[in-house]
Amino acid sequence: MDSSLAAPISTLPRVPVRLAESLERKGLRSVADLLFCFPREYEDFRDRRAIADLEADVAQTIVGEVIEVESKGGFGKSRVGVVVEDQTDALRAMWFNQAFMRDKFHPGQRVQFSGKPKRKGLRWEMVHPRVAWLEDTDDSAGEEGLLAVYSLTEGVSQHHMRRLVAAAVTAHADTPTEVLPAPLRDQYGLPGLADALRWIHAPRNEAQRDTARRRFIFQELLVLQLALAARRLQHRLGFRAPELAVDRQLDARIRRLFPFELTAGQEKALAEVATDLALDTPMNRLVQGDVGSGKTVVALYALLACVANGYQAVLLAPTEILARQHAATLASLLKVSRVRSRLLVGGLAEREKAEVRAGLVAGDIDLAIGTHALLQEKVRFAKLGLAVIDEQHKFGVRQRAALRQGQHSPHYLVMTATPIPRTLCMTQFGDLDVSVLDGLPPGRQPVSTYVVRPAEASRWWEFVRKALRDGRQAYVVAPLVEESDATAAASVEESLRALAEGELADFRLGLLHGRMNASDKDAAMEAFRLRETQVLVSTTVIEVGVDVANATIMTVVSPECFGLSQLHQLRGRVGRGMHAGYCGLLVPEEPAEAALQRIEAFAATTDGFALAELDFRMRGPGDLFGERQSGLPPLHIADLARDGEVLVEARNAAADLFATDPGLKHPDHAALRRQMLRRYGASLDLGDVG
Ligand code: ADP
Ligand code: MG
Repeated sequence: MDSSLAAPISTLPRVPVRLAESLERKGLRSVADLLFCFPREYEDFRDRRAIADLEADVAQTIVGEVIEVESKGGFGKSRVGVVVEDQTDALRAMWFNQAFMRDKFHPGQRVQFSGKPKRKGLRWEMVHPRVAWLEDTDDSAGEEGLLAVYSLTEGVSQHHMRRLVAAAVTAHADTPTEVLPAPLRDQYGLPGLADALRWIHAPRNEAQRDTARRRFIFQELLVLQLALAARRLQHRLGFRAPELAVDRQLDARIRRLFPFELTAGQEKALAEVATDLALDTPMNRLVQGDVGSGKTVVALYALLACVANGYQAVLLAPTEILARQHAATLASLLKVSRVRSRLLVGGLAEREKAEVRAGLVAGDIDLAIGTHALLQEKVRFAKLGLAVIDEQHKFGVRQRAALRQGQHSPHYLVMTATPIPRTLCMTQFGDLDVSVLDGLPPGRQPVSTYVVRPAEASRWWEFVRKALRDGRQAYVVAPLVEESDATAAASVEESLRALAEGELADFRLGLLHGRMNASDKDAAMEAFRLRETQVLVSTTVIEVGVDVANATIMTVVSPECFGLSQLHQLRGRVGRGMHAGYCGLLVPEEPAEAALQRIEAFAATTDGFALAELDFRMRGPGDLFGERQSGLPPLHIADLARDGEVLVEARNAAADLFATDPGLKHPDHAALRRQMLRRYGASLDLGDVG
């Protein structure tokens, strides 16, 4: 970097020491830090109006003469009002708890106020407008264009930030090295760095602002995509995996195990998986499919293909309940085969666990089914060929490393619990290849969803009772295990008590939650599977994967506590067999408006991908796709929920660059490569690309 860019901010003109210290607390030390500290938003006060022509709640600017200055109240609760007049009308500006504003105005001054006016009685009012004090006659004074708004820190005002950034831009906008090669800028219509820096901080118009922002968003996403491409390349070159071929005969042998024809979606995903498995480079594939689309079949096929090739395979599930369910499914599929499979979960006796571990090291066990915790316990395998991670997309770069031995890596197949919004798939999961499993197995009936108000609750329970009397089963899900004073949300213990004494008094109820010990959980699930209990009152431990075809009604208590994708998973527990499914969302007496909107949006669609997108837009990446889980540093200017189109461009650009210059070794790409390593070298382990 040019040394003048690394110079401390205090080398700019007129920077008080205290201000420099405050900026440092915000992480702004050098001139370069200021140049690349992009505005959070812009204020647009170019819309100048006569007072009589103002519109409510829109940012506008008026110019007038101060007629009156009034102030009320004292310390802590003061109010300053300033009335201005132009030829058409009068307006009052108001400041609360800023008593000092009083002394800044006196009748006769010409001032410019910018803000969003409201109609108060007969007069327009602006609260805390931006003010410019004008020379007597010059109406055109004051700021032109769009005004940058920076996020601030204690001790630094907007005014300070604007002044300092302007000084940095004036002196140094031409100094930083251009990162984007000219052909790339031409191809994607992006301005050069110097122009972009000038425009992003002080745009004359929207076009300048937008093109400058687009350039920096593109750049940030391009660097990320290059890092992900570098990681894929490194992985391909750096690790060896066993070639697991599936010939016609083996394919037929595996298919015979499934009691149904595969769907077109399953066929497509299987073909992609089989192609990957046959290579000596590790597969890193993510299978996405809506709840109930039949992802397990893809997993089982891959596991059996691996074992048939003489390698060990492991299937990891997020919960013990699901691991046991998979073990049972596999046991029945493999009744007549010689495959030696074992369950390894926390709930087993120590002795038994030790036995399974020994069997895996010795190679006496072909197939292990367990929870993700299996990885933490450092289980060793004699000849691991494949790891399938079910219903879990949070399986990051680091966890995958746990199953490698030196240069040997198993193949990885990751199945998602939740459809992943497209943009996240290209970033957080950008180092994986993706198979999309679309369509549902034939004969599925859609689940009908109802938003049930308290007044309608007894009718809903009547409906549940009728289904139970017809021989069906039901789930009731609540967010908490036990009652809490901290929130009004429902608990399973309280729900169970209330239902057992009330609406469902005549039926056999079971309880299941995460705080029960493993064998009790197992017993509760088993009792439900065997229809000994008719209703399972549970927390979200049954959220993913659980497959009981006779259960047809899902009741969610306090649905406002769940994300849409989570509700979708819960709803996916019913409607899995030949019976139609129903989902009732029992909303509280007076739900918050936003929560109700979300729930109604949920009830209106059964498309898991659409819901995941909606959830993402409404709540951000949230807990399901938090940045922390991805292990990637946060983005500065790009916003995945908003910048999907730029992301696609950046991804294409990265692919093109990598196709012609895989290690980014060309001198024209040196700056990009440096930036990629600086930003993602550590988090993506990009030791020595190229
Ligand atoms: P998910 O994608 O949610 O993991 P599962 O793999 O659990 O879905 O499959 C849901 C249900 O559909 C299971 O009961 C499974 O046996 C059944 N199933 C899967 N594939 C098919 C198919 N091709 N035809 C009919 N039923 C199928
Ligand atoms: Mg599943």
